[in-house]
Amino acid sequence: MTQPDAPAELARCSFCGKPDTKVDKLVAGPGAYICNECVALAASIIDGSLGSPAKSRVPVWESLTDGEMLSHIPRVAAHIDQAEADLRSWVQELRRRGVTWIKIGEALGITRQSAWERFSGKE
Ligand SMILES: [Zn+2]
Repeated sequence: MTQPDAPAELARCSFCGKPDTKVDKLVAGPGAYICNECVALAASIIDGSLGSPAKSRVPVWESLTDGEMLSHIPRVAAHIDQAEADLRSWVQELRRRGVTWIKIGEALGITRQSAWERFSGKE
């Protein structure tokens, strides 16, 4: 349950999973978001100040316990949901502009029928 006076969460960082309400900035990309903290971490990795990637905080499967991996997979699943919601909003805008299901399907590499079934909300 959310607090009645808590700001509504709009999106989560696709890297660390923190909601926009818990970070200073959240930058949107195509179906993904990154927070200011993850940008800083990535910059440290790129500029070499964190040492080799193996020494960074980026998790690698070999270094994680089963429990750590199990606690991580809901964040991966949440990213899929977030990316799907972002894709739906792009398709809805294209439909609002009058773009056909054929063109949307072609852009996604699927048939008109598949595009309609996936995004129209109709059966
Ligand atoms: Zn983050």
